[in-house]
Amino acid sequence: MTNSATEPGIFEFHLEACDNGARAGVLRTPHGLVETPVFMPVGTKATVKSLTPAQLEEIGVQILLSNTYHLFLRPGADVVQSLGGLHQFMHWEKPILTDSGGYQVFSLGALRKISDEGVTFKSHIDGSLHEFTPESAIRIQESLGADIIMAFDECPAPDEHEYNETAMNRTHQWLTRCVQAKSRSDQALFGIVQGGIFQDLRAKSAEFISSFDLPGYAIGGLSVGESRANMLSTIETVNQILPAEKPRYLMGVGTVPDLIEGIKRGVDMFDCVLPTRLARHHSALTRTGRINLSNAEHTFSSTPIDEACTCYTCRNFSRAYLRHLITAKEMLSATLISIHNITTLVQLAKDLRQSIMNRTFDAASRKWLQPISHVEKG
Ligand SMILES: [Zn+2]
Repeated sequence: MTNSATEPGIFEFHLEACDNGARAGVLRTPHGLVETPVFMPVGTKATVKSLTPAQLEEIGVQILLSNTYHLFLRPGADVVQSLGGLHQFMHWEKPILTDSGGYQVFSLGALRKISDEGVTFKSHIDGSLHEFTPESAIRIQESLGADIIMAFDECPAPDEHEYNETAMNRTHQWLTRCVQAKSRSDQALFGIVQGGIFQDLRAKSAEFISSFDLPGYAIGGLSVGESRANMLSTIETVNQILPAEKPRYLMGVGTVPDLIEGIKRGVDMFDCVLPTRLARHHSALTRTGRINLSNAEHTFSSTPIDEACTCYTCRNFSRAYLRHLITAKEMLSATLISIHNITTLVQLAKDLRQSIMNRTFDAASRKWLQPISHVEKG
Protein backbone atom coordinates (compact mmCIF):
# COMPACT_ATOMS: atom_id res chain seq x y z
CA MET A 1 0.00 0.00 0.00
CA THR A 2 1.41 3.39 -0.96
CA ASN A 3 0.98 6.69 0.89
CA SER A 4 -1.69 7.70 -1.57
CA ALA A 5 -3.84 4.66 -0.83
CA THR A 6 -6.87 5.47 1.24
CA GLU A 7 -5.99 5.38 4.94
CA PRO A 8 -7.38 2.22 6.58
CA GLY A 9 -10.50 2.83 8.66
CA ILE A 10 -11.29 6.26 7.18
CA PHE A 11 -13.28 4.77 4.35
CA GLU A 12 -15.06 1.46 4.80
CA PHE A 13 -18.07 -0.30 3.35
CA HIS A 14 -20.05 -2.77 5.39
CA LEU A 15 -22.83 -4.88 3.92
CA GLU A 16 -25.63 -5.26 6.45
CA ALA A 17 -28.15 -7.34 4.53
CA CYS A 18 -28.94 -8.75 1.10
CA ASP A 19 -32.26 -9.72 -0.40
CA ASN A 20 -31.50 -11.74 -3.54
CA GLY A 21 -29.30 -9.30 -5.47
CA ALA A 22 -30.32 -6.15 -3.56
CA ARG A 23 -27.90 -4.88 -0.91
CA ALA A 24 -28.15 -2.69 2.19
CA GLY A 25 -24.87 -1.30 3.43
CA VAL A 26 -23.13 1.46 5.33
CA LEU A 27 -20.33 3.51 3.86
CA ARG A 28 -17.93 5.24 6.25
CA THR A 29 -16.32 8.48 4.99
CA PRO A 30 -14.32 11.25 6.68
CA HIS A 31 -17.53 13.34 6.79
CA GLY A 32 -19.79 10.67 8.22
CA LEU A 33 -21.74 7.55 7.38
CA VAL A 34 -23.86 6.96 4.29
CA GLU A 35 -26.55 4.32 4.40
CA THR A 36 -26.94 2.52 1.07
CA PRO A 37 -28.66 2.20 -1.30
CA VAL A 38 -28.50 5.97 -1.60
CA PHE A 39 -29.55 8.65 -4.06
CA MET A 40 -27.08 11.56 -4.35
CA PRO A 41 -28.49 14.89 -5.58
CA VAL A 42 -26.21 16.82 -7.94
CA GLY A 43 -24.80 20.19 -6.89
CA THR A 44 -23.14 20.94 -10.22
CA LYS A 45 -21.56 24.27 -9.30
CA ALA A 46 -21.30 23.63 -5.54
CA THR A 47 -25.02 24.23 -5.12
CA VAL A 48 -28.04 22.00 -5.61
CA LYS A 49 -30.03 24.46 -7.69
CA SER A 50 -32.64 26.42 -5.70
CA LEU A 51 -32.05 24.57 -2.41
CA THR A 52 -30.10 25.52 0.73
CA PRO A 53 -27.96 22.95 2.55
CA ALA A 54 -30.42 23.19 5.45
CA GLN A 55 -33.26 22.15 3.15
CA LEU A 56 -31.18 19.26 1.83
CA GLU A 57 -30.55 18.11 5.40
CA GLU A 58 -34.25 18.26 6.20
CA ILE A 59 -34.99 16.13 3.13
CA GLY A 60 -32.57 13.54 4.50
CA VAL A 61 -29.88 13.88 1.85
CA GLN A 62 -26.77 12.00 3.01
CA ILE A 63 -24.25 12.80 0.30
CA LEU A 64 -23.98 15.29 -2.58
CA LEU A 65 -22.25 15.16 -5.93
CA SER A 66 -20.40 18.12 -7.41
CA ASN A 67 -18.75 18.69 -10.79
CA THR A 68 -15.03 19.08 -11.29
CA TYR A 69 -15.35 20.58 -14.78
CA HIS A 70 -17.65 23.39 -13.65
CA LEU A 71 -15.74 24.20 -10.46
CA PHE A 72 -12.42 24.12 -12.32
CA LEU A 73 -13.69 26.77 -14.74
CA ARG A 74 -15.55 28.80 -12.14
CA PRO A 75 -14.54 29.80 -9.49
CA GLY A 76 -11.35 27.67 -9.92
CA ALA A 77 -10.12 24.81 -7.71
CA ASP A 78 -7.55 27.15 -6.12
CA VAL A 79 -10.34 29.47 -4.94
CA VAL A 80 -12.29 26.58 -3.39
CA GLN A 81 -9.13 25.23 -1.78
CA SER A 82 -8.15 28.61 -0.33
CA LEU A 83 -11.63 28.91 1.21
CA GLY A 84 -11.12 25.63 3.08
CA GLY A 85 -12.28 23.12 0.46
CA LEU A 86 -15.66 22.26 -0.96
CA HIS A 87 -17.38 21.26 2.31
CA GLN A 88 -16.59 24.59 3.96
CA PHE A 89 -17.06 26.64 0.78
CA MET A 90 -20.63 25.42 0.22
CA HIS A 91 -21.42 24.82 3.90
CA TRP A 92 -22.11 21.10 3.53
CA GLU A 93 -20.38 19.10 6.24
CA LYS A 94 -21.69 15.71 5.13
CA PRO A 95 -19.98 13.56 2.49
CA ILE A 96 -19.36 14.88 -1.04
CA LEU A 97 -18.40 13.03 -4.23
CA THR A 98 -16.81 14.83 -7.18
CA ASP A 99 -16.84 13.48 -10.71
CA SER A 100 -13.60 13.67 -12.70
CA GLY A 101 -14.76 16.17 -15.28
CA GLY A 102 -14.52 13.53 -18.00
CA TYR A 103 -18.21 13.26 -18.74
CA GLN A 104 -18.68 17.03 -19.11
CA VAL A 105 -15.58 17.44 -21.26
CA PHE A 106 -16.65 14.63 -23.61
CA SER A 107 -20.10 16.19 -23.86
CA LEU A 108 -18.53 19.33 -25.36
CA GLY A 109 -18.45 17.71 -28.81
CA ALA A 110 -16.64 19.93 -31.29
CA LEU A 111 -15.08 21.94 -28.46
CA ARG A 112 -12.78 19.08 -27.39
CA LYS A 113 -9.93 16.90 -28.69
CA ILE A 114 -9.00 13.52 -27.24
CA SER A 115 -5.61 11.82 -27.20
CA ASP A 116 -4.04 9.12 -25.06
CA GLU A 117 -2.48 11.90 -23.00
CA GLY A 118 -5.79 13.55 -22.10
CA VAL A 119 -8.38 15.92 -23.47
CA THR A 120 -8.00 19.50 -24.62
CA PHE A 121 -11.17 21.52 -24.59
CA LYS A 122 -12.58 24.98 -24.90
CA SER A 123 -14.48 26.42 -21.97
CA HIS A 124 -18.22 26.67 -22.64
CA ILE A 125 -18.09 29.98 -20.73
CA ASP A 126 -15.43 32.02 -22.55
CA GLY A 127 -13.87 29.69 -25.14
CA SER A 128 -10.52 29.59 -23.32
CA LEU A 129 -8.38 26.50 -23.98
CA HIS A 130 -7.70 23.92 -21.22
CA GLU A 131 -6.43 20.38 -20.84
CA PHE A 132 -7.58 17.61 -18.53
CA THR A 133 -5.33 14.62 -18.00
CA PRO A 134 -5.73 11.81 -15.46
CA GLU A 135 -3.11 13.59 -13.35
CA SER A 136 -4.80 17.01 -13.49
CA ALA A 137 -8.25 15.53 -12.84
CA ILE A 138 -6.90 14.00 -9.64
CA ARG A 139 -5.02 17.18 -8.69
CA ILE A 140 -8.15 19.32 -9.12
CA GLN A 141 -10.28 16.87 -7.14
CA GLU A 142 -7.65 16.86 -4.39
CA SER A 143 -7.87 20.67 -4.24
CA LEU A 144 -11.66 20.52 -4.05
CA GLY A 145 -11.39 17.99 -1.22
CA ALA A 146 -14.42 15.71 -1.65
CA ASP A 147 -14.60 12.44 0.28
CA ILE A 148 -14.98 10.37 -2.87
CA ILE A 149 -13.19 11.26 -6.11
CA MET A 150 -13.62 9.65 -9.50
CA ALA A 151 -11.07 8.31 -11.98
CA PHE A 152 -10.75 10.22 -15.26
CA ASP A 153 -12.49 8.19 -17.94
CA GLU A 154 -13.69 8.47 -21.49
CA CYS A 155 -17.44 8.20 -21.89
CA PRO A 156 -18.24 7.63 -25.59
CA ALA A 157 -21.57 7.08 -27.34
CA PRO A 158 -22.57 3.56 -26.23
CA ASP A 159 -23.27 1.81 -29.55
CA GLU A 160 -20.08 1.55 -31.61
CA HIS A 161 -17.95 -1.47 -30.66
CA GLU A 162 -14.61 -0.47 -32.12
CA TYR A 163 -14.62 3.00 -30.64
CA ASN A 164 -15.89 1.73 -27.29
CA GLU A 165 -12.98 -0.70 -27.16
CA THR A 166 -10.50 2.10 -27.84
CA ALA A 167 -12.13 4.34 -25.21
CA MET A 168 -12.25 1.48 -22.72
CA ASN A 169 -8.55 0.73 -23.13
CA ARG A 170 -7.77 4.42 -22.73
CA THR A 171 -9.94 4.55 -19.58
CA HIS A 172 -7.96 1.59 -18.22
CA GLN A 173 -4.62 3.27 -18.89
CA TRP A 174 -5.94 6.46 -17.34
CA LEU A 175 -7.00 4.61 -14.18
CA THR A 176 -3.42 3.39 -13.72
CA ARG A 177 -2.26 7.01 -14.03
CA CYS A 178 -4.97 8.26 -11.64
CA VAL A 179 -3.89 5.74 -9.00
CA GLN A 180 -0.27 6.83 -9.42
CA ALA A 181 -1.17 10.53 -9.31
CA LYS A 182 -3.25 10.33 -6.17
CA SER A 183 -1.50 11.87 -3.16
CA ARG A 184 -4.20 12.39 -0.49
CA SER A 185 -4.87 9.42 1.77
CA ASP A 186 -8.14 10.86 3.14
CA GLN A 187 -10.00 10.59 -0.16
CA ALA A 188 -11.42 7.45 -1.76
CA LEU A 189 -10.79 6.97 -5.49
CA PHE A 190 -13.46 5.03 -7.40
CA GLY A 191 -12.59 3.39 -10.74
CA ILE A 192 -15.10 3.48 -13.60
CA VAL A 193 -16.15 0.57 -15.80
CA GLN A 194 -16.79 1.52 -19.44
CA GLY A 195 -17.52 -0.49 -22.61
CA GLY A 196 -20.80 0.86 -23.96
CA ILE A 197 -23.57 -1.67 -24.47
CA PHE A 198 -21.15 -4.49 -25.34
CA GLN A 199 -21.15 -7.28 -22.81
CA ASP A 200 -17.69 -8.56 -23.84
CA LEU A 201 -16.18 -5.11 -23.30
CA ARG A 202 -18.09 -4.54 -20.05
CA ALA A 203 -16.87 -7.87 -18.65
CA LYS A 204 -13.29 -7.09 -19.67
CA SER A 205 -13.53 -3.61 -18.19
CA ALA A 206 -15.06 -4.81 -14.91
CA GLU A 207 -12.25 -7.35 -14.57
CA PHE A 208 -9.56 -4.77 -15.27
CA ILE A 209 -11.00 -2.08 -12.99
CA SER A 210 -11.58 -4.51 -10.12
CA SER A 211 -7.98 -5.75 -10.40
CA PHE A 212 -7.16 -2.48 -8.59
CA ASP A 213 -7.87 -2.63 -4.87
CA LEU A 214 -10.02 0.51 -4.76
CA PRO A 215 -12.55 1.59 -2.09
CA GLY A 216 -15.39 1.54 -4.65
CA TYR A 217 -16.28 1.02 -8.29
CA ALA A 218 -18.59 2.82 -10.68
CA ILE A 219 -20.48 1.88 -13.81
CA GLY A 220 -20.15 4.75 -16.27
CA GLY A 221 -21.43 5.31 -19.78
CA LEU A 222 -25.04 4.34 -19.11
CA SER A 223 -28.23 6.40 -19.26
CA VAL A 224 -26.74 8.08 -22.34
CA GLY A 225 -29.27 6.95 -24.92
CA GLU A 226 -29.01 3.16 -24.86
CA SER A 227 -32.15 1.00 -24.50
CA ARG A 228 -33.38 0.11 -21.04
CA ALA A 229 -32.78 -3.60 -21.75
CA ASN A 230 -29.16 -2.84 -22.65
CA MET A 231 -28.72 -0.76 -19.51
CA LEU A 232 -30.07 -3.51 -17.27
CA SER A 233 -28.09 -6.34 -18.87
CA THR A 234 -24.93 -4.23 -18.62
CA ILE A 235 -25.50 -3.68 -14.90
CA GLU A 236 -25.95 -7.44 -14.46
CA THR A 237 -22.78 -8.29 -16.38
CA VAL A 238 -20.67 -5.77 -14.47
CA ASN A 239 -22.04 -6.52 -11.01
CA GLN A 240 -21.32 -10.23 -11.42
CA ILE A 241 -17.65 -9.31 -11.68
CA LEU A 242 -17.19 -6.36 -9.30
CA PRO A 243 -16.17 -7.43 -5.76
CA ALA A 244 -19.23 -7.89 -3.53
CA GLU A 245 -17.60 -6.23 -0.52
CA LYS A 246 -17.13 -2.82 -2.20
CA PRO A 247 -19.73 -0.13 -3.03
CA ARG A 248 -21.04 0.07 -6.59
CA TYR A 249 -22.08 3.39 -8.06
CA LEU A 250 -24.29 3.65 -11.16
CA MET A 251 -23.48 7.06 -12.63
CA GLY A 252 -26.15 9.42 -13.92
CA VAL A 253 -29.20 7.27 -13.21
CA GLY A 254 -32.11 8.65 -11.22
CA THR A 255 -35.72 7.80 -12.00
CA VAL A 256 -37.99 5.78 -9.73
CA PRO A 257 -38.06 2.64 -11.97
CA ASP A 258 -34.33 2.85 -12.76
CA LEU A 259 -33.40 3.09 -9.08
CA ILE A 260 -35.56 0.06 -8.33
CA GLU A 261 -34.05 -1.98 -11.18
CA GLY A 262 -30.51 -0.89 -10.26
CA ILE A 263 -30.92 -1.72 -6.58
CA LYS A 264 -32.43 -5.09 -7.50
CA ARG A 265 -29.24 -5.82 -9.46
CA GLY A 266 -26.87 -4.88 -6.64
CA VAL A 267 -26.18 -1.16 -7.17
CA ASP A 268 -25.57 0.87 -3.99
CA MET A 269 -25.22 4.50 -5.16
CA PHE A 270 -26.99 6.66 -7.74
CA ASP A 271 -26.86 10.29 -8.87
CA CYS A 272 -28.85 12.31 -11.37
CA VAL A 273 -29.60 15.95 -12.21
CA LEU A 274 -33.13 14.96 -13.18
CA PRO A 275 -35.05 15.82 -9.98
CA THR A 276 -33.87 19.43 -9.92
CA ARG A 277 -33.83 19.90 -13.71
CA LEU A 278 -37.41 18.65 -13.97
CA ALA A 279 -38.42 20.91 -11.08
CA ARG A 280 -37.18 23.96 -12.97
CA HIS A 281 -39.34 22.83 -15.87
CA HIS A 282 -42.39 22.51 -13.60
CA SER A 283 -42.36 18.74 -13.64
CA ALA A 284 -42.85 16.62 -10.52
CA LEU A 285 -41.61 13.04 -10.14
CA THR A 286 -44.10 10.62 -8.74
CA ARG A 287 -44.02 6.87 -8.36
CA THR A 288 -46.17 6.53 -11.47
CA GLY A 289 -44.49 9.05 -13.70
CA ARG A 290 -44.22 12.80 -14.12
CA ILE A 291 -46.82 15.49 -13.55
CA ASN A 292 -46.53 18.84 -15.29
CA LEU A 293 -47.75 21.33 -12.70
CA SER A 294 -48.12 24.17 -15.20
CA ASN A 295 -51.08 22.39 -16.80
CA ALA A 296 -54.46 24.09 -16.48
CA GLU A 297 -55.97 20.94 -14.98
CA HIS A 298 -54.26 21.85 -11.68
CA THR A 299 -55.78 25.36 -11.45
CA PHE A 300 -58.28 24.41 -8.73
CA SER A 301 -56.53 21.30 -7.40
CA SER A 302 -56.37 21.26 -3.60
CA THR A 303 -54.38 17.99 -3.50
CA PRO A 304 -50.60 17.87 -3.02
CA ILE A 305 -48.30 16.56 -5.76
CA ASP A 306 -48.31 13.09 -4.20
CA GLU A 307 -50.69 12.22 -1.38
CA ALA A 308 -48.36 9.45 -0.23
CA CYS A 309 -45.37 11.81 0.06
CA THR A 310 -44.43 13.36 3.42
CA CYS A 311 -42.10 16.09 2.12
CA TYR A 312 -42.43 19.74 3.18
CA THR A 313 -44.04 20.63 -0.15
CA CYS A 314 -46.66 17.86 -0.09
CA ARG A 315 -47.45 18.50 3.59
CA ASN A 316 -48.17 22.17 3.00
CA PHE A 317 -48.94 23.12 -0.60
CA SER A 318 -51.60 22.30 -3.17
CA ARG A 319 -51.02 21.67 -6.85
CA ALA A 320 -53.08 24.84 -7.44
CA TYR A 321 -50.61 26.94 -5.41
CA LEU A 322 -47.62 25.43 -7.21
CA ARG A 323 -49.27 26.12 -10.56
CA HIS A 324 -49.91 29.69 -9.46
CA LEU A 325 -46.21 30.16 -8.58
CA ILE A 326 -45.21 28.79 -11.98
CA THR A 327 -47.67 31.01 -13.85
CA ALA A 328 -46.54 34.07 -11.88
CA LYS A 329 -42.88 33.11 -12.56
CA GLU A 330 -42.09 32.99 -8.84
CA MET A 331 -38.79 31.27 -8.07
CA LEU A 332 -40.27 29.48 -5.07
CA SER A 333 -41.85 27.00 -7.51
CA ALA A 334 -38.43 25.54 -8.38
CA THR A 335 -37.55 25.23 -4.70
CA LEU A 336 -40.79 23.53 -3.68
CA ILE A 337 -40.85 21.12 -6.61
CA SER A 338 -37.14 20.31 -6.13
CA ILE A 339 -37.83 19.50 -2.47
CA HIS A 340 -40.52 17.06 -3.57
CA ASN A 341 -38.53 15.49 -6.41
CA ILE A 342 -35.40 14.91 -4.35
CA THR A 343 -37.46 13.62 -1.43
CA THR A 344 -39.09 11.07 -3.74
CA LEU A 345 -35.74 9.52 -4.71
CA VAL A 346 -34.18 9.82 -1.24
CA GLN A 347 -37.27 8.23 0.31
CA LEU A 348 -37.38 5.51 -2.33
CA ALA A 349 -33.78 4.49 -1.54
CA LYS A 350 -34.52 4.62 2.20
CA ASP A 351 -37.71 2.51 1.93
CA LEU A 352 -35.98 -0.06 -0.26
CA ARG A 353 -33.05 -0.20 2.16
CA GLN A 354 -35.45 -1.06 4.98
CA SER A 355 -37.16 -3.66 2.79
CA ILE A 356 -33.79 -5.30 2.08
CA MET A 357 -33.18 -5.50 5.85
CA ASN A 358 -36.66 -7.10 6.20
CA ARG A 359 -36.17 -9.35 3.13
CA THR A 360 -39.27 -7.83 1.51
CA PHE A 361 -37.59 -6.01 -1.38
CA ASP A 362 -39.84 -7.37 -4.16
CA ALA A 363 -43.05 -6.41 -2.38
CA ALA A 364 -41.70 -2.96 -1.47
CA SER A 365 -40.58 -2.22 -5.02
CA ARG A 366 -43.95 -3.31 -6.43
CA LYS A 367 -45.66 -0.93 -4.02
CA TRP A 368 -43.53 1.96 -5.30
CA LEU A 369 -44.68 1.31 -8.84
CA GLN A 370 -48.38 1.23 -8.03
CA PRO A 371 -50.65 4.15 -8.88
CA ILE A 372 -50.81 6.75 -6.11
CA SER A 373 -54.48 6.08 -5.37
CA HIS A 374 -53.68 2.48 -4.52
CA VAL A 375 -51.01 3.32 -1.98
CA GLU A 376 -52.12 2.79 1.58
CA LYS A 377 -52.17 5.94 3.63
CA GLY A 378 -51.55 6.69 7.26
ZN1 LIG B 1 -43.65 15.54 -1.81
